[in-house]
Amino acid sequence: MNGSAPLIQLKQVSKRYGDQDALTDIDLEIFNGEFITILGPSGCGKTTLLRLIAGFEPVSAGAIYLNGRDVADLPPEKREVNTVFQSYALFPHMSVYDNVAFGLRMRGLAPDEIRRRVGEVLNLVQLAGFEGRRPNQLSGGQQQRVAVARAIVNRPLVLLLDEPLSALDYRLRKQMQLDLKHLQRRLGITFVLVTHDQEEAFSMSDRVVVLNAGRIEQVGRPSEVYEQPHNLYVARFVGEINLLDGRVEQIEGERITLQIGHLKIGVKSNRAFAKGKAVHVLLRPEDLRVETLKDLADNPALKNSFADGGYFTGTVEETIYKGATYDVTVRLDGGRTITATEFFNAEDATIYFRPGDRVAVSWIEGWEVLLPHEG
Ligand code: ADP
Ligand code: MG
Repeated sequence: MNGSAPLIQLKQVSKRYGDQDALTDIDLEIFNGEFITILGPSGCGKTTLLRLIAGFEPVSAGAIYLNGRDVADLPPEKREVNTVFQSYALFPHMSVYDNVAFGLRMRGLAPDEIRRRVGEVLNLVQLAGFEGRRPNQLSGGQQQRVAVARAIVNRPLVLLLDEPLSALDYRLRKQMQLDLKHLQRRLGITFVLVTHDQEEAFSMSDRVVVLNAGRIEQVGRPSEVYEQPHNLYVARFVGEINLLDGRVEQIEGERITLQIGHLKIGVKSNRAFAKGKAVHVLLRPEDLRVETLKDLADNPALKNSFADGGYFTGTVEETIYKGATYDVTVRLDGGRTITATEFFNAEDATIYFRPGDRVAVSWIEGWEVLLPHEG
């Protein structure tokens, strides 16, 4: 991706509705063939962003470039961008075939060409044989596929998808996520998807844009966003997080000694921190290790493999069974509550901890994320 010119470029784009800022200073580059997802809660400006790219609304400030060209004066139908709307927006009185053919007819293509192209995309979305049905004779998933077919039949450079799966039930969503991803690979065109669902964003995208109250918080590959969140907002929005308060005691290169509660713990960070500064220590539930104090005492090898710097002690409050994993919630001595995710392994497929168990909590050094205290 690096080196090539972006297919879509937003430069300092803002959008206001009256005195309300829907988007503020958006800088974003989207590359040819990318699957990029705009992730954020309801009302954060996701749909607005798509509408600006599609040309349904003018920007209030800034500029949008498509293939290097400023599109300010280009109406939607001239942008080589197609949108799959959240509501699908199918024509209810038209057949599947006519819904998909509509745009091509508007553009005056020859009937043979229309027939060929509609047939092709209906095959692609696995709706061959459904040509004569009306939208209300289709399931939600099938309607969704008609909406996709109608958008890709125009062979756009970019497909914009506004929460395209939100009306579907869980299993169908999972299936459609895979189908859309495969479709994008086969077509080789750029998909810009909008969702409020972190798992959906991660499983489908090359890159994720985390949007919050009209501003971009972070852009990166799913693993970057999850493992190296730029700030607390991102860390909290993309999955579960445990937060401990620390203070920087000592710095030697990337190695930092932190005081967390009564413990001194060595961590790594390539961020610059000053001695004495308060920091947040972020730990994903799956990065935490929990052992009973009894096991630690009985098993010296275990003790050796447990954090050099020591461990926190606490009491198990509850365990929650989740199928492949279970969560164990521990109240640390000193007050904080943290949650660790444990994986079942084959020999030991029972929940290992019980409420009231005295436990040690640690993590593998280097897996923590340090952030400065904000504000
Ligand atoms: P999302 O798609 O992330 O839920 P939207 O882009 O729809 O968010 O909306 C972003 C903000 O802009 C919201 O506060 C919403 O109320 C406001 N907004 C969106 N469209 C309009 C409009 N046409 N007129 C006034 N306010 C709008
Ligand atoms: Mg929306």
